[in-house]
Amino acid sequence: MIGLMEGWSDLALDHLPVGLLIIDQEGCIRGINQVLTGLTGVKREQVTGLPFQEIYEVEQTGSNKLLQTLTSGKEFQHLEPEAVIPGIRTNGYTISTHSVRNKSGVIIGALALFTPVGRLQELENAVIKAEKLALLGQLAAEMVHEIRNPLTTINGFLQLLQKDLKGTTREEYINLMLTEMIRVNGLIKQFLQLSRPGYSKRKQFCLNKLMNDISMLVESEAMLRKLDIHLMTAPDIPPILGDNEQLKQAFLNIIKNGFDALSKGGKLFMQTSWNSHEKFVKVMIKDTGVGMDKQTIANMFYPFFTTKESGTGLGMLISKKIIDNHGGQIDVQSEPGKGTIVSVLLPVD
Ligand code: ADP
Ligand code: MG
Repeated sequence: MIGLMEGWSDLALDHLPVGLLIIDQEGCIRGINQVLTGLTGVKREQVTGLPFQEIYEVEQTGSNKLLQTLTSGKEFQHLEPEAVIPGIRTNGYTISTHSVRNKSGVIIGALALFTPVGRLQELENAVIKAEKLALLGQLAAEMVHEIRNPLTTINGFLQLLQKDLKGTTREEYINLMLTEMIRVNGLIKQFLQLSRPGYSKRKQFCLNKLMNDISMLVESEAMLRKLDIHLMTAPDIPPILGDNEQLKQAFLNIIKNGFDALSKGGKLFMQTSWNSHEKFVKVMIKDTGVGMDKQTIANMFYPFFTTKESGTGLGMLISKKIIDNHGGQIDVQSEPGKGTIVSVLLPVD
């Protein structure tokens, strides 16, 4: 009798991380893979074609689950190995049985799968871990939210004290505390942005208009820092679908980094363009600032990675998350001492 598993398929089935035993209508072994020959201590050539019942000394036909599947078509899950192969000395496997049917649905055989419990457990653990992490994230967001209120109070009183202590030796303590307070508030704001769900208000909007708005928004800060900003918008850019408030945040974070990289008199360029072939719009934000070495580029999207004294290390991560959520792409080119180009591609449907 010819075994089911020959040559190529033999090899494939031997590499399965599960044990496999196939019997035909007459109850003869038609396939057995390496895991199962290993488990039961038989050789494939010696058992192929022979009655399963004889090989494994199955006494009562009625109680053997594989034979039950063969006769009734009923399939079983989560069986002990003993339920299929009596006297088998193994645990760590969970067994399921399945009927093998022809095209007309007639049972022509049955098979048993021996799955290592460890693998299932691993999967189960991974799911539990993911759930725990999601819960932790939610809790953290709620907690951070709660921290905001007392901070506002502390901030208010510090400002009062700052006035009282003006000109005294203690003034610098208060100033330091207020600076740190700004930092903590910035961290909280960014953390909350990060924990916000990805998709909120999606609508069609014009990217050129958004960039114009952003340019006006950052104008005063640029003036304060004595920086030049240039915006060049390409004509005929098609509208894109997305959350323009979130995208505004994404671009602001990138622009803010550009500002931080520049010194007085530095220039920041923003440019929009449209690729009609590949159907995406592109925003390029270029600074001629300090630039980044390879190590910094590799780390810049990691949470809390910052090279700044008062940085949060969340800005780029937030931008990337928002752009990812829009099906877009962010690309960074940078050279130390020369500057940085951040390109954001967003799809147009
Ligand atoms: P933060 O600005 O709070 O440090 P970000 O996530 O926005 O955090 O940026 C992470 C780091 O990436 C910055 O600290 C900086 O080292 C680097 N970086 C980002 N953008 C630029 C840029 N345009 N020029 C130079 N370095 C940059
Ligand atoms: Mg930043």
